[in-house]
Amino acid sequence: MSDHFKQSPPFHPGMTVGILGAGQLGRMLALAGYPLGLRFRFFDLAPDAPASHLAAQMVADYNDYAALERFATGLDVVTYEFENVPVAAARWLAERVPVYPPPQALEAAQDRLAEKTFFRKLGIPTPPFAAVNSLADLQAAVASISLPAVLKTRRGGYDGKGQFLLREPADLEAAWTALGGVPLILEGFVAFDRELSIIAVRDRDGGIMAYPLVENHHREGILRLSLAPIPPPLQHGRVGQGSNRQIWDGGATLEVDAIGYVAQAMQALNYVGVLAIELFEVGGKLLANEMAPRVHNSGHWTIEGAVTSQFENHLRAILGLPLGATTALGHSAMLNIIGTLPDPAAVLSVSGAHLHLYGKQARANRKLGHITLCAADPETLARRLARLQRLITDFPQQ
Ligand code: AMP
Repeated sequence: MSDHFKQSPPFHPGMTVGILGAGQLGRMLALAGYPLGLRFRFFDLAPDAPASHLAAQMVADYNDYAALERFATGLDVVTYEFENVPVAAARWLAERVPVYPPPQALEAAQDRLAEKTFFRKLGIPTPPFAAVNSLADLQAAVASISLPAVLKTRRGGYDGKGQFLLREPADLEAAWTALGGVPLILEGFVAFDRELSIIAVRDRDGGIMAYPLVENHHREGILRLSLAPIPPPLQHGRVGQGSNRQIWDGGATLEVDAIGYVAQAMQALNYVGVLAIELFEVGGKLLANEMAPRVHNSGHWTIEGAVTSQFENHLRAILGLPLGATTALGHSAMLNIIGTLPDPAAVLSVSGAHLHLYGKQARANRKLGHITLCAADPETLARRLARLQRLITDFPQQ
């Protein structure tokens, strides 16, 4: 089923973009769109969301069709910054206004089982996985995948929520008690060398541009630090380990594979806009963990660190404009600000540091902003990161 029900109008300044979700991603989309003369309207259940400080926000539930009707009136295009928008609402809107990325991409990304099955069908490697709907299923899945393994809810999980690590057979009952009752997926636990992500953008004519591969560091399931382009694995003491690559090729081999995977996924979905795929690197090979049909936290560095940011390129794609170059301008690090705000003046005293605050109230584990550090070379970047490390109490570990 094609999701492009509505013909898109040609670009003209003053077009109004409707965004489902009014969090920081929506806010950064609007910030990238104002120079193009765009207007924005947001839709979110939470009042006073980060994007509402920039443009009108409708506060309503995604299943409130009367509110969606009012939201859609006068919009030129609709996109989303929140991947758990109900697919039915996105499809309903797509009958009235062009919606990009296509709602079928939402559908594929919302369910971890559908997502991994989609990857498998395209030949994109994944960790082993199996559907789990009962304790008996879980026992059978553990017998075939073996331990350690990760039990996850198929829907609604984010930032590591709705997950249970199974180390030994005695953990099965506890995992089932913690998560059972909703559809689940068991995945083999991947002892990865590192976590990477690939972000690409596809235009309305099928042209694709990809950003350099990014190295990501999580703690408690939350992204803390991204490094772009990926540094050599040497600093992890693993050059060539598990592979025949004794000489670091700048990540070119991994990047070719990653771009191939994201391009295949985009083509299969008739995708328009930015798509991110989170990957595990293990023994010089990549396994796909999940995809996000939207701009992505591991792409925030592109605002200052790439020729064209992921936010601007997403807007260019959905508006039928030519895509901008995705080349990195140097070496960048992106640090999420989580839970507590650092002293802004201290952060900005570090050369190459750019502070982005989302206008949110501080709360434990909440993403309040991010810092992008830019430098011409990796050594300068490392020095600047060390300076930031002394200023930020909760500094991400590499
Ligand atoms: P997710 O919500 O799937 O992105 O998972 C959050 C984090 O949990 C990931 O970024 C990984 O650090 C870790 N994780 C998820 N799935 C696995 C897995 N199959 N093996 C090892 N670590 C995992």
